[in-house]
Amino acid sequence: MKGSLWNHVLNELKINLNPQTYETWFAESSMVSSSKERLIVEFNDRRIRDHVESRYSSQISAIIHDLSGKNVKIDYIVTDDSIESSLVNKNQAKSDREAGSITIKNGIVEIPKARLNPRFDFSKFVVGSNNQIAHAASLSVAQNPGNQYNPLFIWGGVGLGKTHLLQAICQKLEHEKSYLKVLYIHSEQFVNEIVTAIRQGDTSHFKLKYRFVDVLLIDDIQFIQGKDQTQIEFFHTFDTLYQSGRQIVISSDRPPKKLTLLTDRIRTRFEWGLITKISPPDLETRVAIIQNKASEEGIELDNEILYFIAKRITSNIRAIEGALTTLKFADEEISKESAARLLKDFMTDRLEEGLSIDEIRNEIASYFSISTQELDSKSREGRLILPRFLAIYFTCKYTKLSTKEIGQHFGGRDHSTIINARQEIEKKSKKDSQTMEIIKALEQKLNI
Ligand code: ADP
Ligand code: MG
Repeated sequence: MKGSLWNHVLNELKINLNPQTYETWFAESSMVSSSKERLIVEFNDRRIRDHVESRYSSQISAIIHDLSGKNVKIDYIVTDDSIESSLVNKNQAKSDREAGSITIKNGIVEIPKARLNPRFDFSKFVVGSNNQIAHAASLSVAQNPGNQYNPLFIWGGVGLGKTHLLQAICQKLEHEKSYLKVLYIHSEQFVNEIVTAIRQGDTSHFKLKYRFVDVLLIDDIQFIQGKDQTQIEFFHTFDTLYQSGRQIVISSDRPPKKLTLLTDRIRTRFEWGLITKISPPDLETRVAIIQNKASEEGIELDNEILYFIAKRITSNIRAIEGALTTLKFADEEISKESAARLLKDFMTDRLEEGLSIDEIRNEIASYFSISTQELDSKSREGRLILPRFLAIYFTCKYTKLSTKEIGQHFGGRDHSTIINARQEIEKKSKKDSQTMEIIKALEQKLNI
């Protein structure tokens, strides 16, 4: 349905009422927000609101039911004159209005559109096993806000696509459900706004901005930790929105349990919905991401170089982007050698042949169907010794870690044990064809 639902209602009322009645009761009304189940309509005078609610609410409900086929709950609210006038005054007083502040025009709360990165949309997000659930849940939220995953809590390390997903939700909603009020904000700005509001002794502005949105997305929530006033406001905002079926999306660099400086009541609320993690991308996903970005940037990369980069920059997609930008502006033919030199600074993962210790451990554990904890354990069970020795051998050979560091990664073994394990495998690989086969298979799995 194009245009706001309330405009459709008004059109119907215009047809059914005489012009003066319409003008008296409805001319100054406006829609604050609407979702599938709820519509908030605002009047600038309490008497008008009371009259409309008692006299016309059943007629309005019937019109909405005809239009949408649904029983939508309607809240008739009054613009608080004192809030409005104080806001208007404040806004006027500030010639240079801070970004993100709201305005009230003809009784409608207007939330300025967040500055979103146009690149951060769903079409540019590469889905891999590392982010599949986060992606699917985000898409579902964008299609059906407030319905299934509420709140949606996405967490993961830096540069793994959290902001990208939050903004993708935003842009899809703005595009396809423009009648919804969608607010994306970084939690630092959220904190700043509260601090300012409290300093000015007036939080009504803040409340109006946050409690009437249909979808609230807060990025990097970890920054509200330890900030008591912010947490109180956030808590009330959360409850107001949640109870009226509005969608809340949160991102964080750690899971709720690890947000230790957050009050329990907020932490438990995060657990009401879906908590999903974005992990570092696996090799395949990294290759797909590099391919996408390279073609976006108009960089030609042959497969060998593609894999060369994908194997070496493992933990952070932002670093992959930096690497590609470097290659784009390099004034020379891109070969494996020149890439290695140009991208030295991005390859900080202590990799030599493009492997991280985690990749080695995970691949080897899965090859032998054991857990990575069993690689570390002190158990001398026969089935564990070969995998453990192989994992140590590969780590010695394909990372830059010292034997002492490797020992720490393998359950705190000392460096002589590490050297011994490596030598054992080297010896075995020369005379035992079965070990040789296993090494080959593992090398293939690890793309060496
Ligand atoms: P975070 O917020 O988790 O720190 P960002 O969302 O800012 O990370 O992502 C960092 C960069 O990596 C952005 O440019 C983003 O577009 C890109 N990126 C992250 N994940 C993906 C992905 N799955 N597909 C394509 N680009 C991605
Ligand atoms: Mg981010």
